[in-house]
Amino acid sequence: QFQALRQPGQIGSLTLPHRILMGSMHMGLERNPEYIERLCTFYRDRAEGMAALIITGGAVVLPEGGGEMYVLTNPEHIDMLAKLPEAVHAVGGRIALQLFHAGRYAFSEEIGMQPVAPSAIPSRLTRETPRAMTAEDIARTILGFANAASTAKRIGFDAIEIMGSEGYLLNQFLSPLTNVRDDEYGGDFDRRMRMPLDVVRAVRAAVGAEYPIIFRMSGADLMPDSTTEEETIRFAQALVEAGVDALNIGIGWHESRVPTVQQVVPRGGFAAVAGRIRQHVSVPVLGANRLNVPEVADQLVADGYLDFIAPARPWLADAEFARKILIGDRQGLNVCIACNQSCLDHTLVKPYQPVSCLVNPRAGQESEWPLVKAGARRRVAVVGGGPAGLAAAVAAAMRGHAVTLYERDRELGGQFRMAGRIPGKAEFYETIRYYEEMLERFAVTVTMQTEPTLDELSSYDDVIVAVGVEPRRPSLPGEDLPHVVTYAQILTGQVQVGRDIVIIGAGGIGCDVATYLAEHRHATPEATSFFRAQRLAEPASLARHITVLARSERYGHGIGRSTRWVVKQEMQRLGVDVLTSASVCEIRQDSVVIDHAGENKVIPADQVVLCTGQESASVDWLDDVAKKARVHVVGGARESRGINAARAIREAFAAAYGI
Ligand code: SF4
Repeated sequence: QFQALRQPGQIGSLTLPHRILMGSMHMGLERNPEYIERLCTFYRDRAEGMAALIITGGAVVLPEGGGEMYVLTNPEHIDMLAKLPEAVHAVGGRIALQLFHAGRYAFSEEIGMQPVAPSAIPSRLTRETPRAMTAEDIARTILGFANAASTAKRIGFDAIEIMGSEGYLLNQFLSPLTNVRDDEYGGDFDRRMRMPLDVVRAVRAAVGAEYPIIFRMSGADLMPDSTTEEETIRFAQALVEAGVDALNIGIGWHESRVPTVQQVVPRGGFAAVAGRIRQHVSVPVLGANRLNVPEVADQLVADGYLDFIAPARPWLADAEFARKILIGDRQGLNVCIACNQSCLDHTLVKPYQPVSCLVNPRAGQESEWPLVKAGARRRVAVVGGGPAGLAAAVAAAMRGHAVTLYERDRELGGQFRMAGRIPGKAEFYETIRYYEEMLERFAVTVTMQTEPTLDELSSYDDVIVAVGVEPRRPSLPGEDLPHVVTYAQILTGQVQVGRDIVIIGAGGIGCDVATYLAEHRHATPEATSFFRAQRLAEPASLARHITVLARSERYGHGIGRSTRWVVKQEMQRLGVDVLTSASVCEIRQDSVVIDHAGENKVIPADQVVLCTGQESASVDWLDDVAKKARVHVVGGARESRGINAARAIREAFAAAYGI
């Protein structure tokens, strides 16, 4: 199984035992002396999980290169960085340092100065205008990369990766969108290539012929009128001539409007871009972007699209990503579901929050939650088999407790099972599958379609209450009419879907239900293909008319920043009408009367779907059980306001871990 991934490989002088690398990601733990041990443990665990090579989050080569990262001109930062290869080598792993410069993607408030770039072109990401680099700035930056590479080699890193994709500085030099210079570093394509090539030549001269250099280049900027495919291939060949040992193919700029890392992107959706470059170069090609499961990754390597896979987020979801693939334990793999809720979205808010993982709350906190058995084996009941209950049951059982899980439904998974029905969200089923597997492996007793009695619960040492939430029904005139239904009734298929549908509530659930209803006819797991997401100009022909009512001026609150724009874009493409600043006055037999920005309007409706929030599901035995057992109420059952899966699972895990 997974034979292509198992083959040894070579990056320059570095021999790697197989093809599964860990790609670069920022952990939000960098440059803070308090977090260095946590970061070391994080990387050491991934080395123990058999990453062939770990590529760190970016370290900036000069202070203006970006904030919140190690700065390779700062001796204290260099001392901290030196601990990473020490930690990884101690368990037999290998680690490469990524050398980074954000250019116009740096935020002035973080770097304490105006960002620099090839040209003074405003950035949609930062909403700032950088300063055009002078010839001296360019020379200093090239030297900065060379010195940084020497430092990486000196303090023990096994290789370096030069960041030149995703619209960062070196990518900015390449593109006519951001480089309008007319000197030796701008103008025609040869001159636009010169800066990254000068960097590679300087780095090669600094580290010598044998030291492995990976260059992360943009395979497709996904920006109109940026670098062409032909130019991209020429650039790849020029990089090889300049001395790189491998190319890691990044996809898309941060300003691009094409999704690259969200659930709507099919698994392996961009490997073809890397595959085209691979046909034209003599060095190994690495790729990532939605390579979350081995069956897809292995096929892509076998078919010659990639030499190595270097995904990042799957290593958050499972620290043993490579080990499990190599021993063929696909069922035991905790799969990254591309939700971005606890990783990317943590880096898009200010102040940054340390990165973790929705499906693996230990990620980034391995030292606080070591995988050790509890002091005493206790009898634990978990009530509720949704995401929180599953996480609690598995965590408690892993800690060595005797666990019984009670679920009143016919299936486990709760809100995740509903979410999995939304087009493009089928990955949620992977998490249910993983938990079900773990329940079996850790011998949890699962009692389905059962509500435990008070006597039963009172016999346990600990009871974890994870009964979740129920849809909130607001008190609106006409709310009790038969055509008024909840999102749960729609998503579980309990009711027929209408033709003229008004959805009340435009948070995450309202948006999801709108997409579900719009795509209802073909809501198969991989239905929302990347290609449909890309063909934004082509409106879908809808069999039904869907109107979403948002009370405030905005909609999509509750969806993380990395994903909200994709959901909105998709709703637009599907022809869903969204009315903001709209409050419901009355629901009638065949319409909904609203106040829209001070005006009364009547919207025809043969079905009204309530997506008006949730309230904690209640149980009547709580106080009585608490007299006999320790009770832990977690997730939506504890507090429904602002509940999301990340918080629910995290609370459940923490409660189980504390027993
Ligand atoms: Fe993947 Fe979501 Fe975990 Fe991020 S939080 S690593 S996207 S499962």
